[in-house]
Amino acid sequence: MYAWEKDGLAAFTQAKDWIDIKINYQQFFYKGKIDKNLLDQLVYIIYHEMHHACRGYAGILPKNKEHILINSVISEGLADYFALEQYHSKFLTETKSFDFSEISQWINKFGKVMWNKESADDSWLYGGREKPKMLGYKIGRYIVQQIEEKNPKFNPVNLVKSTPEKILELSEVNFFNLNKNSPK
Ligand SMILES: [Zn+2]
Repeated sequence: MYAWEKDGLAAFTQAKDWIDIKINYQQFFYKGKIDKNLLDQLVYIIYHEMHHACRGYAGILPKNKEHILINSVISEGLADYFALEQYHSKFLTETKSFDFSEISQWINKFGKVMWNKESADDSWLYGGREKPKMLGYKIGRYIVQQIEEKNPKFNPVNLVKSTPEKILELSEVNFFNLNKNSPK
């Protein structure tokens, strides 16, 4: 864990045994008090990154493995579900929720590119280039939400090592004919 000057905090799972967290301590301890929202974010990010580490889908992958867009999106969805399940906070529930209408028009377009390799600055993941902010994360949460609805025994821990193929099968999301799958 490192101090940094930028706003808030950021984290990245470099490898399965290496989680990098940066935090602005001045904001974290403001006027002698811990900032509650930043503390919530810190706990949340630790759980989230731990899920990535256990999945073994980190910045550095074993030889002959690559970052594939759909696997990245699913990993984010599972990590978020795991973190929110482990740590309840009103602030997180509000900041991590998404509006389906914001992403619905992008889902079948995503279906056409989802097996592509991820690029370093991928707007399918982070948004930008007219796409909604953090688009891939929202699609990931949507996919996992669909699994939860269809599988009463769903648990983001049990699925930690599941392949994207298996996750998509469980979710029954049809990227090219979304109406059937739209949330109620
Ligand atoms: Zn993540």
